Amino acid sequence: MKTAVFSARRYDQRLLTQANAHAGHELIFVQDRLTADTARLAEGCAAVCVFVNDSVDAEVLARLAAQGTRLVATRSTGYNHIDASAAAALGMAVVRVTDYSPHSVAEFAVGLLLAVNRKIARASARTRDGNFELEGLMGFDLHGKTVGVIGTGKIGAIFARILHGFGCTLLGHDVVANPAFEALGGRYLTVPELMAQSDVISLHCPLLPSTHHIVNAASLAGLKRGAILVNTSRGGLVDTEAAVLALKSGQLGGLAIDVYEQEASLFFQDLSSTIITDDVIQRLVSFPNVIVTGHQAFFTVEAIGQIMATTLESLDDFEAGRPLRNLIPA
Ligand code: NAD
Repeated sequence: MKTAVFSARRYDQRLLTQANAHAGHELIFVQDRLTADTARLAEGCAAVCVFVNDSVDAEVLARLAAQGTRLVATRSTGYNHIDASAAAALGMAVVRVTDYSPHSVAEFAVGLLLAVNRKIARASARTRDGNFELEGLMGFDLHGKTVGVIGTGKIGAIFARILHGFGCTLLGHDVVANPAFEALGGRYLTVPELMAQSDVISLHCPLLPSTHHIVNAASLAGLKRGAILVNTSRGGLVDTEAAVLALKSGQLGGLAIDVYEQEASLFFQDLSSTIITDDVIQRLVSFPNVIVTGHQAFFTVEAIGQIMATTLESLDDFEAGRPLRNLIPA
């Protein structure tokens, strides 16, 4: 099946080509993001394969449908970048990768937490420069601290289990209680209660209208002073400008983010030789108590292997007219 693969990095091309060896789909790799301007590159493709920063809105879907596309397959779990109801109205199916190593993201969130709390990236930069001074590198023990997990699904529950192993008390917020989280002694609270009592807060809920800016100026004002915030979920969960103000005042003690609200124009590309015009990200990376990574929490051998295999399986099933296992509801 002729499929245009957007936002295709070298590893996407290599691994999708390997996974496609059995099926022989005609994969057309496009490095650009899918937008209203680049949609024409999928002319004649029955399927498009997209990633988190592609815009798959109603306008783009209408263009794709007019060109013959009938399937959108996203190489991600989250699907906030796709207008699923517009796709349904156009008779297009949308699939995602429902399950891939949730450990990849949970473990990375723990890594970010340790890195920002114990200043590991700063320390490494210092020693490379021959500076073995400890001043400014003091962190705090996680043992005995309270960790708030917003979104206690697959990733959030694994993150909680790891932090339980560190000897942390667990608080959670979710619209559905997870017995696995409660079995760790986790207690569910409202967001303001969780923010007021936690030394560390980690976000693991999807980006929905109900969770957009769940961390904002008001919730940050109620934060336990000096707490650390970790976001490996979606940038739109945090009002970044409010976070910058909270960092400046010391209300927010540290911030570790793998996702950023305006990441679409920045992430997954090398901009080191260009002038970055996004002042918010530039301000963020200037703080000594902030770590920013470029949406890499999923990036493990296990997770990527599963993402590629599931994506190919969806293309096979669609072409063969079989039921689609990872269909996104309209
Ligand atoms: P999941 O569906 O297993 O868990 C999400 C949890 O969030 C569920 O328990 C759900 O009930 C809860 N939730 C829904 N609405 C909520 C609300 N209003 N308030 C609080 N909780 C709410 O999903 P998952 O596999 O654990 O993934 C979680 C998120 O992680 C994804 O939505 C995605 O945005 C993000 N993610 C990021 C990366 C990365 O590389 N950085 C990779 C994969 C997933």
